Formats: sequence, structure tokens, C-alpha cells
Amino acid sequence: MKVFKFGGASVKDADSVKNMSSIIKANQKEPLVVIVSAMGKMTNAFEHLLELIMAEKNTESAVTKIKSFHNRIIRDLGLKGDSSLVKEIDEVFENLDQTLSSFGSSMSYDYFYDQTVSLGEILSTKIITAYLNSVEIPTLWLDARKVVKTDNLHREAKVDWGATQALLKSQVNNAPENHIILSQGFIGSNAKYNSTTLGREGSDFSAAIFATCLDAESVTIWKDVAGVLNADPKKFKKTKLYEQLPYKEAAEMTFYGASVIHPKTIKPLAQKGIPLYVKSFEKPRAKGTAIEESEVPNLAPAIIHKSGQTVISFKISDFSFINEHHIHLIFDHIKRLNLNINLMQNSAISFTICMDDNPSKREQLRNALLEEFLIYYNEGLDLITIKNYDQDTIDELCKGKEIIIEQRSRNNFQMVYK
Ligand code: ASP
Ligand code: MG
Repeated sequence: MKVFKFGGASVKDADSVKNMSSIIKANQKEPLVVIVSAMGKMTNAFEHLLELIMAEKNTESAVTKIKSFHNRIIRDLGLKGDSSLVKEIDEVFENLDQTLSSFGSSMSYDYFYDQTVSLGEILSTKIITAYLNSVEIPTLWLDARKVVKTDNLHREAKVDWGATQALLKSQVNNAPENHIILSQGFIGSNAKYNSTTLGREGSDFSAAIFATCLDAESVTIWKDVAGVLNADPKKFKKTKLYEQLPYKEAAEMTFYGASVIHPKTIKPLAQKGIPLYVKSFEKPRAKGTAIEESEVPNLAPAIIHKSGQTVISFKISDFSFINEHHIHLIFDHIKRLNLNINLMQNSAISFTICMDDNPSKREQLRNALLEEFLIYYNEGLDLITIKNYDQDTIDELCKGKEIIIEQRSRNNFQMVYK
């Protein structure tokens, strides 16, 4: 069995869905599980709906936009006459209306978010299932909320691996023969079968969950890029494609902020030795990148850029030095606030961290430590990490930048700049 994952960009309109179906057709001979995200930018559109609700504004035209987006794709795929699809889609929109009107001050926002935003994946997979069946690719729609079991941490739900594996195996083993199985990325459900989500861009992780639980032979993520490049082509002109990457390298790249794959995807696959292929849906025959247990000599430096960074320095003012007590104190609050540190540095009298901009948490951190330290901060900065750096790459990237922090270890170079 193989697992394929198609993200929003690969199903953004009828032509993309047709292209996806031709990729599936070419691989239909073997058992296939296909994981799909919401279409195009629909997750953002659902998030926008929630912003309107929170601002107590009218949502009618925003809902209409979501409806017409999907209806256009249904029409362009020639599915308008498919009365059972049309009925199912109507039901999802009724469900949406009910969910939106049920929101009240006693409901947790994150719970509400999951009940609403998860419908993007439901719409997308219902339409695609109907289309695949219409072009003679027998497809079974599987509701991820019935198989991917999670805790209650809405918007960041943690997977219950044991329960998920048992449910997935029984569903897949009982599926009719010669059918591909199509399910949703990003979503699952808690013990009460309320929808949960795994975090934005979580569909890659969903593909890894399905593959791990089903002992798949590989996962392929179909993307709008040729594979894993050594830098984001939207930000850097010269990029190189990695044909092969060790799991460890790929996982570390995601840790430093490379957005090509969701950070949680690699670990479960690496633990089971399931290779992950990243390929272009525009050029499905091209090789792309294989992420697997391997040793690859002379990897090209990977450049990872993150904007929206805050640097905070904690300084001691009384001529004593930074010691374990101070660091302990700072980290106690970092842990309590659930902050992620992207880089840290200390000197005799100060300790500095770099984190994603988050004014509210920054203030909470500052207030908690104001009595102990002089605290300075700087927002809206940029962080570049170069993995497997060489001096030429460093020189090129540092040129003309006002660098605030610079750090290098044997393999990594990092700098924060204005
Ligand atoms: N649709 C979700 C999002 O846009 C999940 C995903 O695409 O991976 O974040
Ligand atoms: Mg997406």
C-alpha cells in the first residue's frame, strides 16, 4: 500500500483535480490511500469567517463565496447532475450554518474553530470522491473523524496512535476490493467524536499517520515545487533540488522553519523506515526528492528564512553575572508560556532569546521577569539559518544586512538581522 497526499494547491480548481486524477490513474494498480486538504485557499476562507463572527459582523457574503467556489468546481468537473453529491454538499453547508449560529460566549474558540474549519476538508474530499468515481477510479470516501483519534487539544490535537491504528486497520481491511481510499488531511476527532484539527498545514502529518498505522510502503506528497529545494524559491533566486535527503536532515530543516513539509511528518515515518517522496504534481514523472535512511555526502547548504522574529535580552544590572539561577528563572516562564525559542545566546551579563513575534506573550514574559532583569526587545526581525553552511553562502547572505546576532556551530550558521 502507498499513501499519496495532495495539498490545497493541487486541488485548487477543476483542472487541478483532473490532473490529480491522472496521477492516481497512473498508480491505480496498487492499493492506494489518498489524503487531501481543503481546496485552494479555503482554510483561510473559513478562518476569515470566524474572524467575522468574532467581530460580530455579517458572514453571509463570506459564506456565499465559499459556496460558489465549490459549486464552480463541481460544475467544471461536470458533476452538477450528481444528485447525491449535490445533496451531500448541501448538508455540509447546513451543518456550517448551524455551527456558525451555535457560537456563543460559553463556547471555546478553538473548539468552534475545529468544528468549522474542518468542513473545508469534508467538502474537498466529497467532491473529489464523486469525480474519481465518475471517471472510473473506484473510490471509497473515508471520514478521517471516524479513524484519526486525538485528545481534546483543539487546533493542536495530539494523536492517539493506538486507537487510530486499530480503527484505520479495520476500516481499510474491510474496504471493497480495487477501491482507492480517499480521506481528509488535517482533521480527526476526540473521544466524543467532536472534530479536532492537527495544526495548520497538518495534512502532511495526516499522511504520515495513515502510512505509519497501515505500514505503508511509502508516502508521496505532491506539491507545486519540484521537490525539497535548498531554499524557498519564492524568496531566493538560485535554488537546488535535493534528490535524496536523510530523514534527520529533512526533520532539522523543518525545525528551523522550512515550510515544504509539516514538522511532525518525518518522525513517525523515520521510526518505521517508510520513505517519503516529495514530487511535483505538474511534472509527476520527474524524480523529486526521496527522504529516507541514507547518507548523502556534500549536501548543498540549506537556507531557511523566517521573518517576524522578536529578540529579547535579559540584562543584569547589579554587576553580578548571568548564572544558572537566572537562566532557570527565564526558562520557567518560557515553559509556562509555551514559547518556542529559535535561537539563544548568553554573555557575562545578559541572556538573549529569539522567538516568533507574539506581542501578548512577549509582554507576559516581560512582566514576569521585570523585577529581576533589565529587559530589551526588538520585533519584526528576520532569521536566516544555513544548514551545512559554506563560507561563500554565508558571505553572500550577510551582504548589506544589519546583523544583530550571529552564531555558528559545526553544521549550522544562524543570524538575526533587521
Ligand atoms: N487545509 C489545512 C491548511 O491549509 C491543512 C493543510 O493544507 O495541510 O492548513
Ligand atoms: Mg494547505
